[in-house]
Amino acid sequence: MRALLLNPGPVTLSERVRKALTGPDLCHREPEFAGLQNHIRERLLKVYGLDPKRYAVALLTGSGTAAMEAMVASLVPEDGSLLVIENGAYGERLSKIAEIHGIPTIPIKFEWGGRIDTQRLKLALDEHEAVSCLAVVHHETSTGRLNDLAPVARLCAERGIRLLVDGVSSFGAEDLRFDEWNLAAVAAAANKCLHGVPGAAFVIVRRDALPDDKERKRTLYLDLSTYCREQDRGGTPFTQSVQCFYALAEALSEFEEQGGWRARHDKYAALAKQTRDGLIKLGINSLLPEGASSVVLNAYLLPKGVTYQKLHDHLKSHGFVIYSGQGRLAQSIFRISTMGEITAADVDRLLAAFKALGA
Ligand SMILES: *Cc1c(COP(=O)(O)O)cnc(C)c1O
Repeated sequence: MRALLLNPGPVTLSERVRKALTGPDLCHREPEFAGLQNHIRERLLKVYGLDPKRYAVALLTGSGTAAMEAMVASLVPEDGSLLVIENGAYGERLSKIAEIHGIPTIPIKFEWGGRIDTQRLKLALDEHEAVSCLAVVHHETSTGRLNDLAPVARLCAERGIRLLVDGVSSFGAEDLRFDEWNLAAVAAAANKCLHGVPGAAFVIVRRDALPDDKERKRTLYLDLSTYCREQDRGGTPFTQSVQCFYALAEALSEFEEQGGWRARHDKYAALAKQTRDGLIKLGINSLLPEGASSVVLNAYLLPKGVTYQKLHDHLKSHGFVIYSGQGRLAQSIFRISTMGEITAADVDRLLAAFKALGA
């Protein structure tokens, strides 16, 4: 049986994206590769209608964390510091990355799954007046919380702070207002809402936020200035994962044909609601109130007396792979994402499998 992936990436592929993986062998120094890479970079900007003079795409080989690390290591100025909003596992990862690169880091901790308290954030910014950058996760996949970026962006704009966003699990399905929020960079990946395969990641960066080559670099492989410079010329600093790029190009064609991020948002929203309503009928409640979660993923409380392992194995035997909680939520929740090639009929079958558990 074909197992459907309901984990938050990698996603269940469409047949056309899977087939794209078998494209011709290609050297990354040949014009055919430059064409493929240019095409992907242009279309990634079009997802949110960005001006190529203002924003550039650095297309990397790696998972989403490579894009997070490239963003943080490349864009916090040499003498700068970073304030990080933490309300889940990925916010904590942003801090860890910054600390590893020796960046003075100020974590502002909120409850896992909780909202960002703008008043507390404001006080923290008052206290750390010299801070140059702020990093935040848009969709905090560890809990499903969709962080409201508008007030964060406003505070950053007032104070001239560079805003760096982990959009790995929201890019392509949630609203990202690059210009209105004056985003300095958004990190994302091919294998979440864009429905590509794991192995390609990218950072969309405001060109004026790229440091010049006089600044000391913290990283060779993940330096965004190098990527943007080389890729603007049709080159690449290092070997890229050509097959992943084929798949991403095909996934972007499919994405455009299906109506772009708004259509994908609506499709996910309908599937998430169907799942949520069905589970609530079975007595399984969500971790967050309706409306607090992204459309991409919802976290649910494990039914009484059912361990995650038992639930996971039961659903897997019915052809569905779900996802556990992370960190402090590992014992109490499970997560369901409806990214990828998933239909309403699939969700009906999933709900039937839950029912068969008799929880
Ligand atoms: C998936 C994800 C990442 C990247 O994780 P990888 O395991 O490196 O793919 C980063 N941030 C968020 C919010 C994610 O959901």
